[in-house]
Amino acid sequence: MSETRVVRAAKLIDGTGQIIPGPHVIIKDKCIEQVGTADDVAVPFGAEVIDVGDCTLMPGLIDTHVHLGALNCTSFGTARIARFEITPQLQSFYALFHAQICFEMGFTTMRDAGRGTPRGDFAEEMCAVRDAINNGIIAGPRLLILAECVITGAHLELLTLPRAMHRVAGATADGPWELRKKVRELIRSGADGIKTSVTGGVSLGTDPEVRNMTQEELDAITDEAHAFKKPVAVHCFTPEGLHMCVNAKVDTIEHMVYSDEESIARVSESGIWVVPTLLNRTEYAIDQNARQGLPPSLIETQRAMLPHCFGTFREMKAAGVRIAMGTDIHNVPEMGCAARELEIYVDEGMTPMQSIQTATRDAAEAIGLGDSIGTIEPGKFADILAVRGDPLDDIKVLQEADNIGMVMKEGAVYVDRLAPVPRTVRHPEPGVWRKIDRE
Ligand SMILES: [Zn+2]
Repeated sequence: MSETRVVRAAKLIDGTGQIIPGPHVIIKDKCIEQVGTADDVAVPFGAEVIDVGDCTLMPGLIDTHVHLGALNCTSFGTARIARFEITPQLQSFYALFHAQICFEMGFTTMRDAGRGTPRGDFAEEMCAVRDAINNGIIAGPRLLILAECVITGAHLELLTLPRAMHRVAGATADGPWELRKKVRELIRSGADGIKTSVTGGVSLGTDPEVRNMTQEELDAITDEAHAFKKPVAVHCFTPEGLHMCVNAKVDTIEHMVYSDEESIARVSESGIWVVPTLLNRTEYAIDQNARQGLPPSLIETQRAMLPHCFGTFREMKAAGVRIAMGTDIHNVPEMGCAARELEIYVDEGMTPMQSIQTATRDAAEAIGLGDSIGTIEPGKFADILAVRGDPLDDIKVLQEADNIGMVMKEGAVYVDRLAPVPRTVRHPEPGVWRKIDRE
């Protein structure tokens, strides 16, 4: 096999906002060497040519907020039952399975936003999945793993662990020094960053509008993580929480829920990235939550919150807040449907190009990988999709597996649906795997 490859297509969306008709992308080993029109960029002697015909090339997609280790409805009938049946060890295989489903849909990079288990944080298991992929043992997307560092009784604790369940010692931490120690332990275990919650959310025993820690505690977490050069992603639902995040200089604010003019102005001025996670705020997802056994009171809270989330998105966009795509796919909706988030952004006023950039260039920058991925430019990793159709004409084309013709990560083709015999990374065909809690 030749070291140099050329991908040739009908059109290229490079992620910077440019469109190149009839592109040639020259790839040397893992990285992009040259990009331009076929007239400007010649095929090097001996290079392997990958011609994807009428397809549109674009950078591999990035979801900056997903829970691959969640008891997702793709794999489990009822998350509330599955949490009693599934060990963390087994769940790491499902996390890999979920990652591969997303990978086949064009998500070449995903940032996992953590999960608690009765045996403690799930970060070590997720780090193992990440490293198995990085070491070439199994195929999957590039993963960044956030580990949860939260106070006792925080939303993120109660979200995945019922209040009556026994907890291991040290699963949560309180006060600046305990939290600093927890951050150090999580980073020692291999996490790429810290996830915490500054306000409540939608889980039993918490209220979305209450504070989840003091400013002093958030400052301690952020200062400690930054000392280790690791980012902090903060679950936040309220204006008070937004102010606390800006004060602490966190790296990303997760979710768009309640806000006001003053808090939005401060976030905008700070330049902190905000991750909308609107896919999990749709009627579709709320109905699925109801079917998954979420109590009616929480379903009501979710419905009442819905207009605020979309309103905050529009107001933050208007105020120039930096927006990076993230879905918050958790127990619902199905793994692999993340591109629907981009359709929501278009429905709420973004152009298709802006929407695509939230999941490419902007997402890469938000998660600290702006120098190596997110655009199709010389020097970056060759994470490239060939898409049937043009997502600039119809953003929905990214939602159909058949349209994701090729998925290349670091110069290697993992998914090829354009070949006479399509190639994917998962072994089971859709519908072949068993839902383990439905025997
Ligand atoms: Zn989340």
